[in-house]
Amino acid sequence: MSRWHPEFVASLRELCGEGAVRTDDASLMAYENDGLGFHRYRPDCVVIPRTSDEVKEVVRRCFGQDFPYTIRAAGTSLSGGPVAAQGGLIVHVSRLRSILEINAEDMYCVAEPGVVLDTLNQALAPHGLFYPPDPSSGSASTIGGNVAENAGGIRCFRYGVTANYVLGLEVILPSGEIAQLGGPAGGLGPSCGCDWKSLFVGSEGLLGVITKVWLRLKPLPEKIWTLLGTYAGVRPASETIVDLVHHPSVPVAIELMDNHVVRMLEASPMACGFDPTCWLLLVEVDGPSELVDRIADDIEEVFRRNGAITMEKTCDSEERLRLWRARKNTGGLLGQVTPDTMVQDACIPRSEFGDVMEALIAEAEKRGIMVVSVFHAGDGNLHPNFLFDGSHPDEKKKVEEIGTFLMEMVVERGGTLSGEHGIGNDKLKYIPLVFGEREIAFQKALLACFNPDNQLNPEKLFPHRSYVGCCAPPAS
Ligand SMILES: Cc1cc2nc3c(=O)[nH]c(=O)nc-3n(C[C@H](O)[C@H](O)[C@H](O)COP(=O)(O)OP(=O)(O)OC[C@H]3O[C@@H](n4cnc5c(N)ncnc54)[C@H](O)[C@@H]3O)c2cc1C
Repeated sequence: MSRWHPEFVASLRELCGEGAVRTDDASLMAYENDGLGFHRYRPDCVVIPRTSDEVKEVVRRCFGQDFPYTIRAAGTSLSGGPVAAQGGLIVHVSRLRSILEINAEDMYCVAEPGVVLDTLNQALAPHGLFYPPDPSSGSASTIGGNVAENAGGIRCFRYGVTANYVLGLEVILPSGEIAQLGGPAGGLGPSCGCDWKSLFVGSEGLLGVITKVWLRLKPLPEKIWTLLGTYAGVRPASETIVDLVHHPSVPVAIELMDNHVVRMLEASPMACGFDPTCWLLLVEVDGPSELVDRIADDIEEVFRRNGAITMEKTCDSEERLRLWRARKNTGGLLGQVTPDTMVQDACIPRSEFGDVMEALIAEAEKRGIMVVSVFHAGDGNLHPNFLFDGSHPDEKKKVEEIGTFLMEMVVERGGTLSGEHGIGNDKLKYIPLVFGEREIAFQKALLACFNPDNQLNPEKLFPHRSYVGCCAPPAS
């Protein structure tokens, strides 16, 4: 018998099945953190509903209870979003993984929130369609998590981010009411008066639970070229990025890997034969066959003009897949060289890229912390990974200090706190850097319309957004 709200736990077991409700230490430990791993909070209970109806019933039963709850999907968030920062219940929605409809004629699909991104694209391919936003976590992350974080990704420079593809949402609010906002119809703008569904896109699981998603689709391109350019350092690579961003062809992807990442890649089973000392740009262009052949030649010219040491290109689908798999798995390589990593996420005007990178590297070196970078450079994203040993408290402190240095510098230079990973509970302390008191009060008032007691996902987005009346102590 659970010591935490025994009657509530028993009612969840009766609703969702015995095995779907976990209160044992081993299970709860698995839910302590997300992909960031920098902060850990143990929930008191986890429920893994089997159906949309069960999720809705769990939300209804939480209303009025004296504990907070948090929605979790694949848990790949990199900002401390799906964690129980004040303890309480985790509602794990990954079992809602049905693709409900693929409407090839009108080019949309309807999916449950737990559908994994790559699974969706595999199902769409036979219809000649695809869903463009592709975070590097696409083999694990879910549609619902992507909508909640307004995920970006590799193809987003050309195709746009998650927000550009959400046609409609079904949501259940903390009060237990269900609302459908938008639906299959809709052009490129708000389809019917105010664009209410967009409130939920990027709302980081604070307003309600997404239970169904209508997504816009695109036709698969006729031909795709992936191009590689290697560079001696950050300057020529960043000048190339600025040129590519201005290029009239609008490339699909503009990705950067620094020399540390290239070295780790080349020492791994995913080695691609790059010079391990170089910086690497990975660019993709797509479109009608003849047109895209010409664009690929133009991109090579941009590489050449900016001092690329070597250039390669391929339109072979196996070879392209191999390159992108290597790119997407770089995060995992860091574990070869460090006990702990902390990835930060900011967004800068792209013309600031070279200066910001150099200043960040110098600051990290000054503190004896190694920084390695791989990110969607075309979108102005900046994702430095700080390598450290968490068993030394002073190293963790140094990483926090460099994080603060980064955020202050980024905001000073016209950038902002997140390119795509969101704020979660990792970056809430930086919120006053970008919003004044009036803007924070306005946003909190809006949140209060949906989630008045902060019972859903407390201690996220804004400092001191606690669930008051909670049985658990406030997060430190
Ligand atoms: C290796 C790696 C690469 C990554 N690459 C990218 C990238 O390229 N681009 C990018 O944008 N992100 C990237 N991420 C971050 C992460 O994958 C995204 O933030 C993703 O959108 C999270 O989806 P998830 O299913 O894992 O959601 P979770 O991590 O489980 O949850 C994320 C947030 O969404 C909320 N949420 C989840 N489901 C729902 C729902 N149904 N209703 C309401 N709220 C919900 C949660 O409460 C939480 O606040 C990467 C992460 C990793 C580990």
